[in-house]
Amino acid sequence: MSKTIAVLGSTGSIGRQTLAVARELGLAVAALTAKSSLDLLERQAREFLPELVVLYDMEAAAEMARRLRGLPIRVAYGMEGLTEAASLDRADTVVTAVVGMVGLRPTLAAIQKGKRIALANKETLVCAGELVMEEAKRCGAEIVPVDSEHSAIFQCLQGCRDRGEVKRLILTCSGGPFYGRSFAQLEGVTVEEALRHPNWSMGAKITVDSATLMNKGLECIEAMRLYRLPPEQVSVVIHRQSIVHSLVEFHDGAMLAQLGTPDMKLPIRYALTYPRRAPSPDEPLDLLRCPSLTFAPPDEEAFPCLSLALRCARTGGTACAVLNGANEAAVGRFLRGEIGFNDISRLVEKALDAIEVKWNPTLADILEADRQARSVVLDGACVLEESK
Ligand code: NDP
Ligand code: MG
Repeated sequence: MSKTIAVLGSTGSIGRQTLAVARELGLAVAALTAKSSLDLLERQAREFLPELVVLYDMEAAAEMARRLRGLPIRVAYGMEGLTEAASLDRADTVVTAVVGMVGLRPTLAAIQKGKRIALANKETLVCAGELVMEEAKRCGAEIVPVDSEHSAIFQCLQGCRDRGEVKRLILTCSGGPFYGRSFAQLEGVTVEEALRHPNWSMGAKITVDSATLMNKGLECIEAMRLYRLPPEQVSVVIHRQSIVHSLVEFHDGAMLAQLGTPDMKLPIRYALTYPRRAPSPDEPLDLLRCPSLTFAPPDEEAFPCLSLALRCARTGGTACAVLNGANEAAVGRFLRGEIGFNDISRLVEKALDAIEVKWNPTLADILEADRQARSVVLDGACVLEESK
């Protein structure tokens, strides 16, 4: 059970819900971080009085230092600040709720300090899952997933003594706002439509990933890394109601699932209280009033991001880092109105075709693969020339 937490990305959707759970459980907070959200971070700092507050943005950090003058709170900035927030002695648990590959180095720093990682930042495991899991093993750091599907699987695996008994993990997927449409019908969809998720309220990047189904592809890779299973043992099923959060199928034919209302506070609370469970103040799922539960196969033709991710899962090496870097850059461009919805998968595919895969990558190889992927998406022509 966590007592003192550091929250990386405290101003985001997961970060805010983490602080709501921290309030509920009476946890102390050692560090809070954001990119540039000054006002909210200031309010959080005044309430939780952490020893360290970090803004990735240097100017925002300078302004924060002015605002918090007189309080016993240090202010830092940049990657160094994030890494320090992840390594503070006082925190036993680090909640990684930043979005994107920027979470990788702070997560490794927290692991090297042997902390519990309540892991929401899936991009970290997608890019460098093998490195992260190896380092966690070496340092005795516990990784407890926050992502609802992986938390469901983690819960279903409690009591499973031999991973060899697992036949397959089944990740459920809401299908997003465009379920049932063909690839051609998705050509002209707007940012606003893509941001309208049917069941979950989340940050913009993951909401777009949920609309392209890249999110489910990233989650398959995340599950393979967390549970050390090959791609053939991870599958996806569309479940529109988001009530069954995922399932584990065992070789004896048993299937275990975790059910609940779509509310991230449950997996966050579990990651903080594991191996115990704390009471929740929220309404539980009412089986007699919940909708009928339906299941269907995903449409990989309409949503090619899912098959691109599964292709990278099978390829290994730096392929997943390229996939993730290209996707982050492409989603950024889509959100800025520079490209269309279907261009996201086109650009990711272009990056995957252009960049050579490196096997047994080091951290430097992964960071380089990420950089190249972003360049292809942001400035295709010149990097394609360079890589010839
Ligand atoms: P949000 O966009 O809501 O929040 C992101 C947080 O990260 C904010 O605090 C933001 O600060 C900070 N941040 C963004 N960029 C940087 C940067 N370059 N350096 C430092 N900090 C940065 O995202 P979510 O909370 O939705 O998602 C966070 C992570 O959790 C993602 O990896 C996502 O895939 C995963 N996740 C989210 C779920 C959800 O329900 N939201 C469910 C499962 C997983 P600022 O406010 O200043 O921009
Ligand atoms: Mg999820």
